Amino acid sequence: MSSDDPCLSLHPETLAIRAGRETSEYREHSQSLQLTSSFTFDSAAQAAAMFLGEIDGFTYSRFTNPTVSAFQQRLAAMEGAERAVATSTGMAAIQATMLTLLKSGDHIVSSRSLFGSTINLFNGVLAKFGVETSYVDAANLDAWRAAIKPNTKVFFLETPSNPLTDLADIAAVAAIAHEAGALLVVDNCFCSPALQQPIKLGADLVVHSATKYLDGHGRVMGGAVVGSDKLVEQVYLHVRTAGPSLAPFNAWVLLSGLETLHLRMEKHSANALALAQWLQQQPAVEKVFYPGLPDHPHYALAQRQQKSGGAVLSFQVKGGREAAWKVVDAIQLISRTANLGDVKTTLTHPASTTHARITPEARANAGITEGLLRVAVGLEHIEDLKADLLRGL
Ligand SMILES: *Cc1c(COP(=O)(O)O)cnc(C)c1O
Repeated sequence: MSSDDPCLSLHPETLAIRAGRETSEYREHSQSLQLTSSFTFDSAAQAAAMFLGEIDGFTYSRFTNPTVSAFQQRLAAMEGAERAVATSTGMAAIQATMLTLLKSGDHIVSSRSLFGSTINLFNGVLAKFGVETSYVDAANLDAWRAAIKPNTKVFFLETPSNPLTDLADIAAVAAIAHEAGALLVVDNCFCSPALQQPIKLGADLVVHSATKYLDGHGRVMGGAVVGSDKLVEQVYLHVRTAGPSLAPFNAWVLLSGLETLHLRMEKHSANALALAQWLQQQPAVEKVFYPGLPDHPHYALAQRQQKSGGAVLSFQVKGGREAAWKVVDAIQLISRTANLGDVKTTLTHPASTTHARITPEARANAGITEGLLRVAVGLEHIEDLKADLLRGL
């Protein structure tokens, strides 16, 4: 087995196709799928050296595997980072990161608007082990500063937020974290490295749900933690011990997903922008939330920080829940599901699904109105998407 150079001088589109390859003695052109739990050694001395980490090599697939290693190398190159470690899911990536960086008595400052399971991980699992979390409005830099405590170790954020697409200024939040001696972890699931590279903006670690845009076709679960060699080595040691490792088959599927990531994100974004502009003109629509629209409150930051507005938009219809549900019930092409990151467009009513279990006051605070709908825009023809939404508008 041999691995390619990180080829860091190449363009991202090229890295997505050429970086990170592990070839066997058969010199296969496509990345091979190595379905094996363990690997053999030439000698007792070689086995000993590999287990001690004195020489590189594959020992056991909970540690790593050639197909998984190829995925890790390619994703790291695409994020402009030194190293990545793959995990079984996105939540496993976040859990492994937090259990590596934190101990009992430590404190997290996090953006308020987070993926639901991440909130449950912080408030349920981590709180049980004595790790406390304070939540702030991600766009408010003074709020990040004010939330710092002597035991703050980690800042955590998602940008753009789900479903209202508010942005956090990654470089500014990273500076505040570093001043406080804390690390910044960014969940880059919504943009993917094709649109946003948080490490280059000062983030210390990026976590991914590879289940979403990295796969891009809704096929497999996966996750990853990306960053400096030093930090990722610590997370890797946790993953190989605790065991939330990525399956080789899933890595093999994800590698082909990465090859088309830039093309897909470009088209997802173009479709989302066109749909956002069209929705703004519909008399039944009160408001559209999309960072690619010039009247979005964080448009200037989006222009600077992201390559495009991204694939996800939300819009508010006039007439509250009744009118919103009418749109959901009328679609015939778009999928009624809460998932995202797929070539297929999906439509969700956040107030009654993803955000149903929080109190009405918390929902109102977060801006999740009864008339709000979220679209994760896929790759279908834009006219078919408009026609389908028009049925219920
Ligand atoms: C889906 C998602 C996750 C969790 O990923 P899984 O692969 O489902 O475990 C984390 N963060 C964001 C923003 C997500 O959308």
